[in-house]
Amino acid sequence: MTTITGNEHGQDFESRVNELGRELLSRVKPERLIALTPAWWQERLMGWASADPQFRVKLLRFVDVLPSLKTSQAIADHVRQYFRDDGRAPIRLGTGLAGRGVLRPVLSRVVREGVVTMADRFIGGSGPDEALPRLRRLTGDGIGYTIDLLGEAILSEREADVYLERYLALIDTIATGAPTGTSNVAKPNISVKLTALTSHFEPAAPEATCEAVKRRLLPLLRRARERGVFVNVDMEQYRFKDATHVTFADVMLSPEFRDWDGAGIVVQAYLKDATHDIDHLHQLARRRNIPMTVRLVKGAYWDEEVVLAAQEDRDPPVFEEKAATDANFEHCVGLLVAAHPLLRPAFGTHNPRSIAVALAETEAAGLPVGAIEFQMLYGMAEGLRKAIHSMGYQTRVYIPAGEILPGMAYLVRRLLENTSNESWMMHRHEEGDPAELLARPWPSGPEPREVRAFTNEPPAEFNLPQVRTAMDHAIAEVRDRFGGYHPLLLAGAGVETGAWDVVTYPGDPQAVIGWVARATTGSADEAVLNARQAFPAWRGRGATDRAAILRRAAALLSERRLEFAAIEIFESGKTWAEADSDVCEAIDYLRYYALQAERLQGQPVDLGVPGEDNQLLYEGRGVAAVIAPWNFPLAIICGMSSAALAAGCTAILKPAEQSPIIASYFTRLLHEAGVPGGVVQYLPGPGEEAGQHLVEHPGVDLIAFTGSNAVGRSIMEAASIVRPGQRNIKRVVAELGGKNAIIVDDDADLDQAVSGVVASAFGYAGQKCSACSRVVVVEGAYEEFRSRLGAAVQSCVVGPPHDPYTQVPPVVSAEARARIEGYLALGEAEGTMVARTRVNGAGHVVAPHVFENISRDSRLAREEIFGPVLLLFRAHDFEDALDIAMDSDFALTGGLFSRNPRNIAHARREFRVGNLYINRRITGAIVGRQPFGGLRMSGIGDKAGGPDYLLQFMVPRVVTENTMRRGFAAE
Ligand code: NAD
Repeated sequence: MTTITGNEHGQDFESRVNELGRELLSRVKPERLIALTPAWWQERLMGWASADPQFRVKLLRFVDVLPSLKTSQAIADHVRQYFRDDGRAPIRLGTGLAGRGVLRPVLSRVVREGVVTMADRFIGGSGPDEALPRLRRLTGDGIGYTIDLLGEAILSEREADVYLERYLALIDTIATGAPTGTSNVAKPNISVKLTALTSHFEPAAPEATCEAVKRRLLPLLRRARERGVFVNVDMEQYRFKDATHVTFADVMLSPEFRDWDGAGIVVQAYLKDATHDIDHLHQLARRRNIPMTVRLVKGAYWDEEVVLAAQEDRDPPVFEEKAATDANFEHCVGLLVAAHPLLRPAFGTHNPRSIAVALAETEAAGLPVGAIEFQMLYGMAEGLRKAIHSMGYQTRVYIPAGEILPGMAYLVRRLLENTSNESWMMHRHEEGDPAELLARPWPSGPEPREVRAFTNEPPAEFNLPQVRTAMDHAIAEVRDRFGGYHPLLLAGAGVETGAWDVVTYPGDPQAVIGWVARATTGSADEAVLNARQAFPAWRGRGATDRAAILRRAAALLSERRLEFAAIEIFESGKTWAEADSDVCEAIDYLRYYALQAERLQGQPVDLGVPGEDNQLLYEGRGVAAVIAPWNFPLAIICGMSSAALAAGCTAILKPAEQSPIIASYFTRLLHEAGVPGGVVQYLPGPGEEAGQHLVEHPGVDLIAFTGSNAVGRSIMEAASIVRPGQRNIKRVVAELGGKNAIIVDDDADLDQAVSGVVASAFGYAGQKCSACSRVVVVEGAYEEFRSRLGAAVQSCVVGPPHDPYTQVPPVVSAEARARIEGYLALGEAEGTMVARTRVNGAGHVVAPHVFENISRDSRLAREEIFGPVLLLFRAHDFEDALDIAMDSDFALTGGLFSRNPRNIAHARREFRVGNLYINRRITGAIVGRQPFGGLRMSGIGDKAGGPDYLLQFMVPRVVTENTMRRGFAAE
């Protein structure tokens, strides 16, 4: 556990902190706002937002959507939808105006101007030129600045090029236009986010990311050095931190920049590993023996880090308590001051106590006043900044520049900060009690985590070096096992049949991963016989016992998760993240179905009345044939078989021809966990032989199938025929294909929509049943979406799956590639190509393609392609978009990107697919959170990973006993 010590001094130091803090606060001059001025209105708005969480959400969401609203009607409509129920008089007036056609232009102008003025408070200007007068004013007052460029998320190399050009222009503008002084603080200074310098900043591959970033970072640094401009590297979300440090260190140690003292970097004190970052930077500075500026901040992505960690069921990388961050900040202040002069501390905080600690630490260390500086965000805590300045310290403001509307994310972040419950910076240092403001932060320690009956296995954090190293080892180890033999596993024994099928690596088809025994009909018969014999004992074992075994299997799999992921990388061509999430899903199924079996079968349901005992009980259906596809090679076979086992069935696993090896490992793992050899068996072989034989076998009671529609229907048909010796009507569980659409509304956040569509359409080269293969864009957003999507697709990184920098891997086999290429030829003949990724990789590579102008009736638009092919449709309006999206025989997943509450509500009702995702990608369903399964031709609809799934593997029985004897009833 991380302990936070705060500063390590005694009472004298505390007294000095107090004195300096009081002096600081006494110098703060409160700013009085004049009633009814724009600033006054903003204060009120922020006041409401701080006091009323619902209003805060509405305000932030409205500010967020505003840039995409092109007409006064759209603005008025959104004002009404967002604020309709609000009782505040000025807001009521606004929503009232929004309802009147003639007044809409006035309302929309007022609203836009209002937001732009609000932004103006935090933003230096729409571009460098516009920011210059403010910069001059600042430097004239002896205050430094660092300027950063706002913009949209960078989704393509084209956008990254434009961003670099903007930065180069910024450097030139401030180098020539803004006055400089001799002091360090007066030098022109810019801040840069490295994620904006490449379209593929991949935390799992810091070295490759570093190379990609350097293509633009080096020209930027060269220009800055030439023009005497200081460059500060900003820190963003935690997942990007390691790659940012790797890149920074690489450049700083390069011969070209080794002796340059014009660069700095940020440390975020809200991170539990912030002190490690300072150590690391100190070592870097020692190696260079050149001073380096480190800006210590608390961190601006707290909400996001906490929410993402909660979603992934893991501890967040940040302290959850504000006092803990404050204490850690103080601790980091001490470390930075001690590292002076190699590290030059710059303290970025608006908290008087933190500032006072920095002053006291510097003083205690005997550093000159000029050794440190304080940085604050433009437009925030002005009074405090002036107070520090008046005490003779260097101050600098962080001032973003850029078009406000595209840079809205920045404004939202600042508003979030200003209106949060923890925020005191608007008023408290003017009004508050100094003793309270300057009190030492005492974290009370993290709250114990809630223990839940089921939690999802969190994805591997490939952003962490130790996890990457472990994955590299797993990959190397699995590679060493290439060429192994995998017999059938019948009643716990390895069985060879004389015929072996070869499995090769889709990223290098010459590489033989292994040989797998091909089941014969005789071996299938033997498997069924074993399964029948094992069934009564397994059924009789009881849910608790079976659940314990499955949980043991989950624990074993969790221990070996990287090894299993590595097998998937080679056998199925999954990228690191895709392989890892497939293994996590498998672990989740084992735990989830164990729990569900206990829930359903723990004890019979009592339905009795006096004198009569009625019990409803569920038990295993019998022998299950589990017939699985290759595209989620472990999760699906594990999900179907763990459901069968949990319910009390015995299972025969028939994996797909393309992915039998992982299933062999999995079967052995189940045996190791305690599942008896006859209860789970491994029977690989071609679908038309072993698979079909199982389906038709009279001893099989249930077929759990996931795969294509054609095979699924043929299985249902074959299963309906009763054969000699058959006692049970077969139950078929069928999860089939999809032809999934995402709708992009005209007010969608295109940063989110483009990246969501790319991830949904091209993740695992589109070989997911849930993949997006059609995107339907409402007229107003079409051109911009197409242009950004096209550029993003051209920028996709196609490569071998073992390389963690790869975004799109090859497809699974030569046959799959040939089939997809047939569809590409059709696309070229029937439609217009919007974009294609350039590829030159090895293996079964298919370039991602986007087509438009394809008829809705074309085979391309109706058949499941199962490859990286995306069709773009234009809709007149939202209704039309919904009509196009629903015009399919399939109904598995669907998606919507919209910020229009009415359209979102409409889609919830009418976009009838098995799994609808709003404002996120449409792939990656998580067990227990998004129970998964399709409607129409996509399946029978029982949701895998949901509470009803297990019932399909069970038979219900009711036992009624009359407990009355001669008028006497037992209680
Ligand atoms: P597929 O239908 O070709 O094969 C699936 C399995 O069925 C394989 O194990 C195969 O050997 C077996 N099989 C083939 N013919 C058979 C027969 N006549 N009798 C018995 N078994 C037979 O599918 P695939 O190519 O492995 O997987 C891709 C398909 O799976 C896509 O259509 C995809 O959409 C679908 N899928 C659906 C879901 C879902 O949850 N709805 C999930 C993953 C994949």
